[in-house]
Amino acid sequence: MNEQSKKWRRIYIELTDRCNMRCSFCPRSKAEGTGDDMPLPRFKALIDDIAANIPYSIVYLHYLGEPLLYSRLPEALAYCAERGLRAGLTTNGLLLQQCSAALAASTLDQINVSYQDGTETFMNERLPEVSAGAYLRSVSAGISEVREKGFKGTVKLKLMTTGPASYFSGSKYSNIETPEAFSLAVRGVFEFDGEVHDGRSGQAGCRG
Ligand code: SF4
Repeated sequence: MNEQSKKWRRIYIELTDRCNMRCSFCPRSKAEGTGDDMPLPRFKALIDDIAANIPYSIVYLHYLGEPLLYSRLPEALAYCAERGLRAGLTTNGLLLQQCSAALAASTLDQINVSYQDGTETFMNERLPEVSAGAYLRSVSAGISEVREKGFKGTVKLKLMTTGPASYFSGSKYSNIETPEAFSLAVRGVFEFDGEVHDGRSGQAGCRG
């Protein structure tokens, strides 16, 4: 298979490198960001190029930043729909309620919510002004609201844990209380795909 005929499994477009959390495991904490959003014309040009020239499975609208902070999100999502793009994004979920109308109106194939170990210790580290309970309620309400407003795609919950007895140490879910909390809070509203990332593995939590 030559380069021309290769189908890209995932293409990532970073709408913004800003984020409203400060996770210590995130590569953002090691890198100098610009703090800028991608200009909308540049985003549209990229989408045009992909739609016309690049075989792909899905385009993700995030990389290291939080995509729901993107200042032109409604227009960007509308343009993806206009060009028939198969797209998704991964978010930390804090702004789901605020962005629910734009997300519900979109044709996104999937929204991944990277719910990152909502313990008080961890929340204090990355967002001291929001308690673990408030984060859980915000994500839960946000997912419900996106659904209630008519989002037709898949909503996936991805759980990131940094606890000592996590997936990668061989005792899957043993230290995680949040899946139970979530299944009670938003049962039937989202799909929990059972995927658990360990923060110590060096993966960014907000990757799809
Ligand atoms: S892991 Fe995600 S939520 Fe945390 S700082 Fe990085 S981009 Fe933001």
